[in-house]
Amino acid sequence: MAICFECENDLNIDIDEVEEGDIVTCDECGTEYEVVGVEPLELTKVDDEPDEDDDDDLLGDNEEEA
Ligand SMILES: [Zn+2]
Repeated sequence: MAICFECENDLNIDIDEVEEGDIVTCDECGTEYEVVGVEPLELTKVDDEPDEDDDDDLLGDNEEEA
């Protein structure tokens, strides 16, 4: 059973339905976690900070920025 590190909500992950690299989102606080392992289930928090890291410009999806 996986618990959100931020708000301790049950993330409700069905281990049969996730695989490494999947992203799960906490329903309560919106924190995203990447699945880094499934046996046992292991999650790492995805930091969504635009400042750090270069963006991996996957789709070149550059719609107007506000
Ligand atoms: Zn949470």
